[in-house]
Amino acid sequence: MDREEIASLVSEAGEPGYRAKQIMDAVYRQRVESLSEISTLPQEFRERLAESAVVVGAARLEKKFVSVDGTVRYLIGFGDGQSVETVWMPEGDGGEAGDGSEAGAEAEGASLGTSGAKARSEQDEPIAALKRCATQSQSPTPSGRHHGGRASSGRSTICISSQVGCAVDCQFCLTALLGVKRNLTAGEIVGQVCAVLKDQQVSPPEDRINLVFMGMGEPFLNYDNFIKASRLLVEVVGVAERRMTVSTAGIVPRIRDFGEEKIRPKLAISLNASNDALRTRLMPVNKKWTLEMLMAAAREFPLRTREWITFEYVLLGGVNDTPENAKEVAELLRGLRCKVNLIALNPGPGIDFTTPDAARVAAFQKILRDAGIPAFVRRPRGRDIYAACGQLKRTVEVATSPELQSQMVSLSPAAER
Ligand code: SAH
Repeated sequence: MDREEIASLVSEAGEPGYRAKQIMDAVYRQRVESLSEISTLPQEFRERLAESAVVVGAARLEKKFVSVDGTVRYLIGFGDGQSVETVWMPEGDGGEAGDGSEAGAEAEGASLGTSGAKARSEQDEPIAALKRCATQSQSPTPSGRHHGGRASSGRSTICISSQVGCAVDCQFCLTALLGVKRNLTAGEIVGQVCAVLKDQQVSPPEDRINLVFMGMGEPFLNYDNFIKASRLLVEVVGVAERRMTVSTAGIVPRIRDFGEEKIRPKLAISLNASNDALRTRLMPVNKKWTLEMLMAAAREFPLRTREWITFEYVLLGGVNDTPENAKEVAELLRGLRCKVNLIALNPGPGIDFTTPDAARVAAFQKILRDAGIPAFVRRPRGRDIYAACGQLKRTVEVATSPELQSQMVSLSPAAER
């Protein structure tokens, strides 16, 4: 619920207007997990809210995996038993921002020192961190990161999901294998963030948090809830607008709507192919919205000052990673204010493609750079097959091996409720 909805809930209940702020603060700032924890409200009003089926704490941490590099993957459950994965990428793992941080860093000027430049370095690997956050061994649960701690200096990133599963059916993506179960509500989207912030003991804006809508699902197929969540995140949770990035498979009409939004994350587009025939094969969504339509929308997208579009390109060995492909990509993007994130395929069961070797990836990158297009390679830090996008959920469902169990971190009793 947003400010207006909570305000009308309060007025319908005949309560004074300031109760709305008390509820907002409790839910989105203190991140309480139940109505009974909102101690600023009279007991009697809390009971009435409970009777009218108002739910607080829409998202619950169910499982937590900590990788050697500090990346944490959460399985987050909702009231109806459905769940999604949400990923925390701590500062320094190179997994930040999916490009949200750079603009933020620039906007905030010199106080950031070199981090703006660092964010643009090749160490920066937002997608790789999500796809490949290896879980080879268990590291201690990050704790005690209060304001002024590591997270505040940096570029921690939360990668959130917008749907349970996904309907887009990209041939290289594990989430696609789940199909789409349902959209998340705005509360469930924001709830993922609140749950992770609480577990990591950090809080924006004091702690610098980047957000990427790059988890499960296609945000632009759950547009209204995604936009509502973005606004809540900026206006109430305190995440900086320019530290948020949304990635779309290319839902063209929504890209156009998105450009008109007053408050919006930055835009990333999953390109993944250099011509229509190839893109339609890899991403069936291209049948409906062709490259020509997609690129027209990208060219007409109203970019803000110092903003650029990010194009993600998953490299599939021998399929879309040839020098010819790179040249076609350079042609497609010529003159656009953009950058390219190259991601060597993260392999997984049921995915029928191979991962190109580093030399091939570098050759692709060089062609783009020589054409004047900033291109960055997302380097994997481990290819544990259980770390891939959309796979956490599946992994947990079949998590019977001792190896997997040992990577699970037990949650606090509150989180296990
Ligand atoms: N539905 C949105 C956001 C989720 S996917 C979108 O398509 O953009 C986030 C990114 O991960 C996309 O760029 C997608 O192309 C990429 N991706 C999907 N499967 C992958 C895989 N197996 N290896 C590497 N990247 C992958």
